[in-house]
Amino acid sequence: METVADRPIQPTVQPGDIRAALPDAAPERPESFDAILSDLDEIVMPGITHWQSPGWFAYFPANTSPPSILGELVAAGLGVQGMLWSTSPAATEIEEVVADWLVDMLGLPISWKTSGPGGGVIQMSASDSTHTALVVARERAAGDASKMVVYASEQAHSSVEKGARVAGYGHVRLVPVDDQFAMRADALEAAIEIDVAAGLIPVAVVSAVGTTGTTAVDPVRAIGEIALFHDLWHHVDAAYAGTAMVCPEFRHFQDGLEFADSYTFNPHKWMFTNFDCSLFYVADRKPLIEALSILPPYLRNEASESGEVIDYRDWHVPLGRRFRALKLWFVLRSYGVEGIRHHVREHVALAAGLADRIESHPQLELIAPTPFGLVSFAHIDGIEATDTLADAINDSGWAFVTPSTIDGRRFVRVSIGQTNTTAEHVDRLWELIESVVRSP
Ligand code: PLP
Repeated sequence: METVADRPIQPTVQPGDIRAALPDAAPERPESFDAILSDLDEIVMPGITHWQSPGWFAYFPANTSPPSILGELVAAGLGVQGMLWSTSPAATEIEEVVADWLVDMLGLPISWKTSGPGGGVIQMSASDSTHTALVVARERAAGDASKMVVYASEQAHSSVEKGARVAGYGHVRLVPVDDQFAMRADALEAAIEIDVAAGLIPVAVVSAVGTTGTTAVDPVRAIGEIALFHDLWHHVDAAYAGTAMVCPEFRHFQDGLEFADSYTFNPHKWMFTNFDCSLFYVADRKPLIEALSILPPYLRNEASESGEVIDYRDWHVPLGRRFRALKLWFVLRSYGVEGIRHHVREHVALAAGLADRIESHPQLELIAPTPFGLVSFAHIDGIEATDTLADAINDSGWAFVTPSTIDGRRFVRVSIGQTNTTAEHVDRLWELIESVVRSP
């Protein structure tokens, strides 16, 4: 961690280089740990992309932090398999507690706590959470899955389409967006009416709080009201932006959650907790457990039969589960809610500052609003000039951004949220952007 800022973010290896440096078969006899560590330095490190560099502005952050690393290490050392409460009670109860803490921290409906009808569980990824939500929605709807329809915006993450495909839905409708790339509620309503008239079965809608492309925010309340009216399951994907809700000033972006059936957000993006750690909440855990619970004789035990414990194996597809809650518990306690708020506000303020500079630059323009830590902008001369800018930033070695396309327009995504990114790094990025734009 001490040296990561000085290392080139992108490796220069070619496909197959790492593999070619390794033997074809596992060693027959034990090797010394010194030999293993030496290969870590010589072979593995040259092939690492440094997501933890403070110059990381690509994709979304995939943060880690010292307490998270220590929590992960302890979990690995304990090596518990927390599929049932009885297979390691602390693994289940710490997870319940952090999930409940986060309900208050993010201003989610109180009834989503495990003490109410709902509850939260840690899954590997937001994709898993969305897939799980779509499975529960399908079970609840009953009928011919080939006629069932899932709705999401044209800007929804690909995990919605993948989850729907894996869950066996016959149709996915990508609903048009407005000029800010948010789902148009009127277009959703129209799409549902057309599908009903065609004999299809609308089953679920996914709204995004912070799309992957530009962090657009769908109208959660309006979508929730439509879902309620048509009896659709309403899943909210706040994979990246959910962390921002720790600050009350952002919660208006998720207004209307009382009409949501499920919600996902990833502490493994912006909450300083290393991958994998994705929270999945349901407003009512009964249909989730009914959809996923299968009880073979070897899993029967007194605690489960008492009905007084949570068995998280019934809350997702896998049976086995790691003690992921430990690293999140370490993080929440080490930073405190105030500490997390402080960093989120700092990242958002840095993004707003960069957006202001871009807006007042004659050759650059913002292509979308900057509600959180992502700045989306383009060179006014179009695709080639925008790509030249992105390439120059990435060729610098110390900064890394993701170019993307929306509505046929090329643009650069600068995602500010790495644990150690400060004003100094964003100023340096801006100087680089200015110098490239000055001398094409
Ligand atoms: N949803 C949104 C809005 C995302 O931005 C992402 C990833 O960036 C995902 C879902 C998928 O997250 P995961 O990698 O945890 O499956």
